[in-house]
Amino acid sequence: MNFIETRGNDGNHPASVTFSQAILSPISSFGGLYSPQSLPELDQSFLSAHIDSDYKTLARAILDAFAIDIDSDVIDSALALYDDFDDPDNPVPVVKVKDDLYVSELWHGPTRAFKDMALQPFGVVLSSIAQSRQENYLILTATSGDTGPAALETFKNKANVMVACMYPDGGTSDVQRLQMVTEDADNLKVIGVKGDFDDTQNALKQLLGSATFKAKLTENNIHLSAANSVNFGRIIFQTIYHIHSYLELVRQNAITLGDKVYLDVPSGNFGNALGGYYAKQMGLPVEKILIASNNNNILTRLIKTGKYDLRDLAVVPTTSPAMDILISSNIERVLFDLFGDTRTRELMQQLNEEKNYALTAEELATIQSIFAADYCDDDEGKAYIKQAFAGGYLMDPHTATCFKTYDSCREKDLRTIVYSTAEWTKFSPVIANALTGETDSHDIDALKSIAQEAGITIPAIINGLFDKPVTQNSVIEKSDIEKEILAFIS
Ligand SMILES: *Cc1c(COP(=O)(O)O)cnc(C)c1O
Repeated sequence: MNFIETRGNDGNHPASVTFSQAILSPISSFGGLYSPQSLPELDQSFLSAHIDSDYKTLARAILDAFAIDIDSDVIDSALALYDDFDDPDNPVPVVKVKDDLYVSELWHGPTRAFKDMALQPFGVVLSSIAQSRQENYLILTATSGDTGPAALETFKNKANVMVACMYPDGGTSDVQRLQMVTEDADNLKVIGVKGDFDDTQNALKQLLGSATFKAKLTENNIHLSAANSVNFGRIIFQTIYHIHSYLELVRQNAITLGDKVYLDVPSGNFGNALGGYYAKQMGLPVEKILIASNNNNILTRLIKTGKYDLRDLAVVPTTSPAMDILISSNIERVLFDLFGDTRTRELMQQLNEEKNYALTAEELATIQSIFAADYCDDDEGKAYIKQAFAGGYLMDPHTATCFKTYDSCREKDLRTIVYSTAEWTKFSPVIANALTGETDSHDIDALKSIAQEAGITIPAIINGLFDKPVTQNSVIEKSDIEKEILAFIS
């Protein structure tokens, strides 16, 4: 299958590209994104054929249906990474929490956040394409906390790929920072930036525009790629767990094959939700996809009113920081799939120039036939964490936002799959605050008090971070980033 451009073709880019080309250079004509030319159909017979398939077998079949240009043995070794999740037989457990609400836990991988679901196999795929082309790639990422550790973990010691990862110093949790600064491999560089996440992201943009930087890359024979979810190489792995979670409900006798369910997704850049959208379009019986946000509720407003309006808006920090976002990149792929490239280009151009766009009434109705949305503020989120804990379920603040959409967006009493995107260990101060009222605790203290409250132990993989030697010591001014990265790649 080939990939085409969400904003149409400018005559300079190829009219369509293969999967590996879309992975290596994810940005297309007019700043658009690559999207599948058509989606494979996964009808009821596909689903019933995979009722008893394990995760890897199902994943293999879905990837085969996409007919991507990746060698079979590469796909096998990419999927083999799911064997290192907590339970190799079921890397994504789905647990019943209450009534119609089932939680699909996407955080049983090495960095304890759902980014591993896609980035783990993506690392193998990207590195193998780079090797077969005998090219070297540099991945630059600016992270607010979860993408950085997952990208470093997957590319650690991989051939033909280097990663430079920037995080705002003081802007991540202790656990997230330690996951990054204790990574030790020659092909990884971690840089703490004095400033907030916006400063870090702007520094990255500036770097990408710098002529000296580009010249140096060319001189060293290094190409640039990206590991954020504009890269379809991540999205493809994010369709799989939606289908797996549905089949889990069938296996648990919670539904009969063919019954409709709600998917309930804590959303930021909309990669996770887009995977659910594709699964629905491919034939998974989904009533609607519920989009949960925090106080940065631009997606709620889009889905409720058809207006995407950035004017006078600034990101507000919340207790679910991985969703603190105003530009939600993957919405573009939904617009493209539903309304075509001409309209998508028009809307995106308007967003760039006028900082807002509005869908027509008809377009809005189409969106609302697929999605519903609401947002959950920090206090509501804490209340949901406390309530779920009283019922025996410990969850993180991102997952908690879905409990609001579960309460406010469902029109039918259908089974609902809430996606849990982080283990409790990654956002422990917020959870400790919700459970015990304690404030301003460091991660290590919060971890201890939650463990005590819950009668569990802190997982070794997290506890061990506090004793691991820090190998990545750079904390620098924005203006020194270029120099630092040039030194790293030379
Ligand atoms: C990245 C992330 C999200 C948001 O996912 P998108 O695919 O960007 O919508 C939600 N929760 C956590 C914990 C994350 O790390």
